[in-house]
Amino acid sequence: MIRVTVWNENIHDTEVPQVAAIYPQGIHGCIQGFLQAAGISARTATLQQPEHGLTEEVLENTDVLIWWGHAAHEKVEDAVVERVHRHVIAGMGLIVLHSGHASKVFRRLCGTPTGRLKWREVAEQEILWVIEPTHPIAQGLGENIIIPHEEMYGERFNIPAPDELIFISWFEGGEVFRSGCCYRRGRGKVFYFQPGHETFPIYHQKEIQQVIINAVHWAVPQGRVELGSEETNFKPNPPIMQLRDSGFRSIEGLHEHKK
Ligand code: ZN
Repeated sequence: MIRVTVWNENIHDTEVPQVAAIYPQGIHGCIQGFLQAAGISARTATLQQPEHGLTEEVLENTDVLIWWGHAAHEKVEDAVVERVHRHVIAGMGLIVLHSGHASKVFRRLCGTPTGRLKWREVAEQEILWVIEPTHPIAQGLGENIIIPHEEMYGERFNIPAPDELIFISWFEGGEVFRSGCCYRRGRGKVFYFQPGHETFPIYHQKEIQQVIINAVHWAVPQGRVELGSEETNFKPNPPIMQLRDSGFRSIEGLHEHKK
């Protein structure tokens, strides 16, 4: 069974009554619920727990990590960011939702200031267009998803060009946004999915749930490696075929400091 950990900073869910009314179990509880209903093993972790609930042991036993954060990106400890990054490079899948675009983890994996985009919160309609209908993440969807009310996110979104772009969104006010972006980082698969502003019931919408379930299946590690076990692949290598002797001899000491 696929093992997912749903991480949420869990601040607005508990402090803002309008958000708590939409997500009485928190956004993490809502996502955990529909994943479990889809036959996926899902646990939750929050910012407030020791090590934000993302210990080495939890991550070792996580196939796919889902990330939702908004108000407290800078409160996430660097050591935890480093740990998540290491596990993604080794093969753990990562799904970054909505305002998680500005999280330390996503910034680190992208290498650009991904917090930069246009935004406007006036509850406008979003049409999310499926532009790669044969991609695993788009299975079971029609040609678009209509979200009645969402916070607008607009280009330019300061991300590196996605390896695969699955969705593009249009907002009522006229802007467009790359709303479903796939990346590979090391052995790990990363998916950024834009919908999910906390004041609208977006994670209760069936098609949005379908995308997240599909993304979990897509991001499951194939051939995850033990951290550090690939080290032997990155050392001076004897030739795999017989060489002619060119007379060249490596200069002694030249590579001493290389690690
Ligand atoms: Zn938002």
